[in-house]
Amino acid sequence: MTPADIEFDQRHIWHPYTSMTKPLPAYPVESASGVMLQLADGRQLVDGMSSWWAAIHGYNHPQLNQAAIDQIGKMSHVMFGGITHPSAVALCRRLVEMTPAGLECVFLADSGSVAVEVALKMAMQYWQARGEKRQTLLTLRNGYHGDTFGAMSVCDPQNSMHSLYQGYLPQHLFADAPQSRFDGEWDESDVAPFAKMLDENHRKIAAVILEPVVQGAGGMRIYHPLYLKRVRKLCDEYGVLLIADEIATGFGRTGKLFACDHAGISPDILCLGKALTGGYMTLSATLTTRHVAQVISDGEAGCFMHGPTFMGNPLACAVANASLHLLAENRWQAQVLTIEKQLRDGLQPLAEHPAVADVRVLGAIGVVEMRQPVDMAQLQKHFVGQGVWIRPFGTLIYLMPPYIISPEELSKLTGAIASALAALY
Ligand code: PMP
Repeated sequence: MTPADIEFDQRHIWHPYTSMTKPLPAYPVESASGVMLQLADGRQLVDGMSSWWAAIHGYNHPQLNQAAIDQIGKMSHVMFGGITHPSAVALCRRLVEMTPAGLECVFLADSGSVAVEVALKMAMQYWQARGEKRQTLLTLRNGYHGDTFGAMSVCDPQNSMHSLYQGYLPQHLFADAPQSRFDGEWDESDVAPFAKMLDENHRKIAAVILEPVVQGAGGMRIYHPLYLKRVRKLCDEYGVLLIADEIATGFGRTGKLFACDHAGISPDILCLGKALTGGYMTLSATLTTRHVAQVISDGEAGCFMHGPTFMGNPLACAVANASLHLLAENRWQAQVLTIEKQLRDGLQPLAEHPAVADVRVLGAIGVVEMRQPVDMAQLQKHFVGQGVWIRPFGTLIYLMPPYIISPEELSKLTGAIASALAALY
């Protein structure tokens, strides 16, 4: 990339959550392979982010590449309205088989946020078909579910964008986030605020939506699986649907194939995305039970009212199939366990640093929470200087590397965080 390209980028291209007048630096990446990102100036960075939880098998993977090439030779896309194709059928068959029991009907969409919109619409249509006007959702503080309006309305009201769209966003119910840590004692009173809210409002609640076990972009909080178990039981008792947003946690990231597996529960609706295509392209899936699908289909509309242009995109489905095949073939469980141990060894000692509020690790997720918000540009510059790609936000410096990372590469990531703390704090 030329300096003129960089300047054009700064003047004309929005990046995620950045200003058009005071843009943060955007590092030019020319290619990526395995766990390495290759910068335009020739430097190589060990990727600690898996491109936001997605590139679990690493970049430029020969089998994923081949799957894309094979599919392109047949067709890159064909409409899904009135047409089906082998890649979508194979993918949905796999998803039904591998996800928690009871999830049988799959809706394919374009991105995680849209998967959440689809889940919320399914819940609304379900109650409408049952002749009840239930349009309120119950969720948890510190949650994150995406940036489209429906998804935003169930993100944490404080640390998300609620204030910007006040009056436009639908009002939902927020229970206090769980406090019992994943690796700590379970405190039965933890679920009391949620139970109280459900008890007081259940007649108007269409669904509970939450991120099981790991709350991602809303705070990287890792909570006790018994909380999830209690929520499932309460939803059953009150007859309210449970939506699990596993867009970030799905496909092994937490040490189980799905975070729901830590609690041995099945949701009524499950949202998947991110790692679904091994980070190659955008695709998401919303799965639901036969019961929910049947009620919706027997309702006034006679169908589920959603149908994006690129629904079931063959190219994305083909790569997703190859990615799930790799996941089944690979030793993801051993890989994630090894990463977990090394993240604990590498990050736990940093808890002693006076600027650090907490260190927590689960599966291939390692979090260093600082006492104060970090200077992202300054930290990132330091990290790039150390040969690693880590993108902190708020008070959080965190790692979620590709599962194929080697111990040496992972040491480089944890070492870079240690060195940043030593140099900048
Ligand atoms: N839900 C969760 C739990 C997420 O982490 C994200 C993305 N960070 C989303 C939904 C939204 O997904 P997307 O960015 O693909 O729209």
